[in-house]
Amino acid sequence: MTEGPPSVPPPGHPGPYGPPPAHPAPAGPYGAPVPYGPPPYPPPGAYAPPPAPGRRSRRGLWIGLGAAVLALFLCAAVSLVGLKSYLDERNDASAAALDDRYNPIRQEKIEALLAAHTKALAERNEKTFVAPFDPTTKGLVAEQTSLYRNLSVLPLADVRFEYLTKGDFRPVGGGHEVDVTVAFVHRFDGFDLGPVEEWYRWTIVQTDKDAPLKVTHAGGVPAERKRDAITHYPAPWDKWRSIHVERTPHTLLIVDSSLRAEAQRYAPIAEQAAVADLAAWQAGGVGAPAPSGFVISLVKGRAELGSLYRTTKETPTESGVAIPVPPEGVLNSDEKGPVVGATRVVVDVRDAYHFTRGTRERQLNLFRHEIGHALVGNLTARAPGSHLLAERETWLVEGFAEYLGNGRKPWLTSERTADSRAVIREIGLPYSLPGRLTWDQEGRVGYHYWLGHSAIGYLVERYGEQKMFQLVAEHYRSRKIGEVTRDVLGVSYEEFEKGWLAYLKAKVR
Ligand SMILES: [Zn+2]
Repeated sequence: MTEGPPSVPPPGHPGPYGPPPAHPAPAGPYGAPVPYGPPPYPPPGAYAPPPAPGRRSRRGLWIGLGAAVLALFLCAAVSLVGLKSYLDERNDASAAALDDRYNPIRQEKIEALLAAHTKALAERNEKTFVAPFDPTTKGLVAEQTSLYRNLSVLPLADVRFEYLTKGDFRPVGGGHEVDVTVAFVHRFDGFDLGPVEEWYRWTIVQTDKDAPLKVTHAGGVPAERKRDAITHYPAPWDKWRSIHVERTPHTLLIVDSSLRAEAQRYAPIAEQAAVADLAAWQAGGVGAPAPSGFVISLVKGRAELGSLYRTTKETPTESGVAIPVPPEGVLNSDEKGPVVGATRVVVDVRDAYHFTRGTRERQLNLFRHEIGHALVGNLTARAPGSHLLAERETWLVEGFAEYLGNGRKPWLTSERTADSRAVIREIGLPYSLPGRLTWDQEGRVGYHYWLGHSAIGYLVERYGEQKMFQLVAEHYRSRKIGEVTRDVLGVSYEEFEKGWLAYLKAKVR
């Protein structure tokens, strides 16, 4: 159950979070930075002290981690800037010498190919859609045929295949080939607030200067090895040969055809969760537009959970995840530009706690939790004057999702309460709200979710639900937590935390 973590490192931490270099170092096959990569520093758990000996096990209730998600996206934003400046330089340099020798495959020709591809999809012409793909590349035409058929059953609008970047030309046979990054621009009609982008990497070949272009490879943008990557590829329409789509007024479930029965079973629960969260958002009075609905996929097991819209190196531990997708034109947007166009939810229906040995109520909690992330995720902004995402308190991000997940009921009714009380009996009351660095500490993740939830509960009880919504929204919009407690609550962060500690002490006594 996760969403992005804060994305800026602790002060003084060296690493990839500095301003983007003016001249990106050559890396990857294109001489340009690889667009998506997570921070290289160890994950939060790595900083945690060793867990106390004890029997507390990592129950399925907590949905830890997932966290990486927005951090990855952050790095993406950094790299995007570098990539953009790199491309601009290349364009200037090559403008003077646009001849066949230095530019053997003209960009106009690639753009014409993409325009024809877009038109083929719009006109429902499967033959034209798959025509550019090389039949001698094993499986390529079959994959593209599946993609065409999958896209044809989805309620998509604003669909466009758009040229983004290209790498260096390579001689091949009597002609050339080049790797091209293609944006698949799309919007789920009736669900997304605006168009988003998924990126593909195609290899395009031209055997001689008058020959038609052929695509010999089509896949995702290569991820850095050893790191998790959020490339938004493969999406469900890429990953599965045949998809099933289950639509309710506020949800769109896209699943592998083998999960049709599960999609039909869980769609009413997802719908109930979406309606509840949208009503909460309305009551919260934030005033920011909410999506009309939510695009959700169900998967079979943790390995698959780590392989949809992203590639994780380690098997995830969470039962669901909310993955932000960039808006159309993110590559050209400035520091004030939006960074999240929509959020896709993925839920593991093989999860024992919620599903195979779970209850309807637990499933509802999980859907409300992830949809809660998706609702507020649209407000995500970069830090002032920066291309980096603003830092966000994990307790606030997950506490808010827990509050919605628990159906806005008092936080002590959470199923995590019994275990968390046991933790307090064992180690005593906390001294502060849990931070990002200790969040994933072994055996304590569920307790940390519960503490975050308690802080949201405190905000609601002490200041009212609307103030809580306002505080969460302002923090997502990149304002520092101390500024937000002062402006919205009229107290410093220290005073707020002290008030919460006293409240917690009184409640769990
Ligand atoms: Zn979560």
